[in-house]
Amino acid sequence: MPFLQCIEPDCKAQFASTTPIYTCERCGGLLDLVHEVKAIEPDQLRQAWDARLASKAPADQSGVWRFRELLPEVEEANIVTMIEGNTQLFEAPRCADYAGMNQLTFKHLGLNPTGSFKDLGMTTGVTQAARMGTQNVACASTGNTSASMAAYAARAGMKAVIFIPSGQIALGKLSQALDYGATVVQIDGDFDDAMQLVRDITKDSPLYLLNSVNPFRLEGQKTIAFEMLQQRDWRVPDRIVVPGGNLGNSSAIAKGLHELLEMGFIDRLPKITIIQAEGANPLYQLWQHHRAGETQLKLQALKGASTLATAIKIGSPVSWQKALRGLWWSDGEVEQVSEQEIADAKSHHRARWHWL
Ligand SMILES: *Cc1c(COP(=O)(O)O)cnc(C)c1O
Ligand SMILES: [Zn+2]
Repeated sequence: MPFLQCIEPDCKAQFASTTPIYTCERCGGLLDLVHEVKAIEPDQLRQAWDARLASKAPADQSGVWRFRELLPEVEEANIVTMIEGNTQLFEAPRCADYAGMNQLTFKHLGLNPTGSFKDLGMTTGVTQAARMGTQNVACASTGNTSASMAAYAARAGMKAVIFIPSGQIALGKLSQALDYGATVVQIDGDFDDAMQLVRDITKDSPLYLLNSVNPFRLEGQKTIAFEMLQQRDWRVPDRIVVPGGNLGNSSAIAKGLHELLEMGFIDRLPKITIIQAEGANPLYQLWQHHRAGETQLKLQALKGASTLATAIKIGSPVSWQKALRGLWWSDGEVEQVSEQEIADAKSHHRARWHWL
């Protein structure tokens, strides 16, 4: 049975997977869901996962639950799913040209049911909420997380409460969450303030926290790596490039890849490459000053993060230790881009028929 474990090397405290906590009770560190999968035969699992592509059962059709041998244990009937995942890979030769690369492929996670990769984490997060007997779920959000949580909560018959920074959320996303029936609380502050508030509130209340500090969110999002490799016939790319905001997604992908490496599905990791906006770059700053093998690293939170890319406008990323671990595992890199570079790339892809 999978269990929760503190990621801090000098703590490693373990907890049952049904303990109602989001961080380590002993030291406050982030938690991993750890799977004991010694007996797994990669070829057999690969065949089972391929066979499910032709199945009509929702748990097989979901691009998350298809990989359920490596996910939190749950009865199939109790899975809360909207058949997320199954997002395709697109070759993007003109974007590769623009970026000065030989080959660039997009895994278009925006093709998920509510329009973002958050759905991959919400199917596991809300399924866990149901397993814990929760009726109410909560998150802080700059946009996509709220729409996704509201949709999955509605699907599960739960109440969704969303904390948003005042005037700093994409309006389309806010209306999506309202349409799914969520209660929206606007707070006087930025995303980092909203995040702190919702963490405090959910500590001792019947509200279940569904931001990416919740390890069950990352379990779903790690299947991005599984599905991408399944689609590539398990050929490992050189790099996986992701934007970094709260650093949940980069952490999740790294965890998925690391598990595949440990079980012998792949023999190396692609370099995880995290891109931050110049005005919201706390991990980039840490990475600049880091030396390999250094242990006592501490991320300096950035007050007043600022960028037009609202989904990554975060000064105090919750999962930075996990992201750093992924960078070390994969010999990865962190880069930053200016507002001008973001705007130029956007206008380029608009001019060239969307992003292909
Ligand atoms: C959530 C989100 C991000 C940031 O991901 P993190 O896990 O917070 O680093 C980036 N882009 C989009 C479109 C998002 O929805
Ligand atoms: Zn701990």
